Amino acid sequence: MSSSCPCGTGKSIDQCCGLYLSGQTYPNNAEALMRSRYSAYITGNIPYLKKTWHPDTCPELTSDDLHTNWLRLDVVRSKKGLKKSVVEFKAWFDEGDSERALHEISLFKLHKKRWVYVGPLDQWP
Ligand SMILES: [Zn+2]
Repeated sequence: MSSSCPCGTGKSIDQCCGLYLSGQTYPNNAEALMRSRYSAYITGNIPYLKKTWHPDTCPELTSDDLHTNWLRLDVVRSKKGLKKSVVEFKAWFDEGDSERALHEISLFKLHKKRWVYVGPLDQWP
């Protein structure tokens, strides 16, 4: 028995993002990478967030970046490309007496044969 994965696939964490967060394997598409990064925020895995961030855009990350109380993730849509992919998502968080969502259209690129997060886009491409 293990708990269900925070990313919301309905699988257990061991069969889902846990495989990526532990370094056993690497996500082979941008949506799986995006989901695993959400799970990394929840589990406080800063090394994983850095590993999956494009080196050109990766900020200094500290535990101060992990204070948000995330509730759940909705992947709205995703668009796969050979070298670039885009994933639109809503990540819900608790803001005291209400729920709010971080709504982002994220750009991912293939970097050294691995998908990495680049940053948000202004609009769906
Ligand atoms: Zn997962």
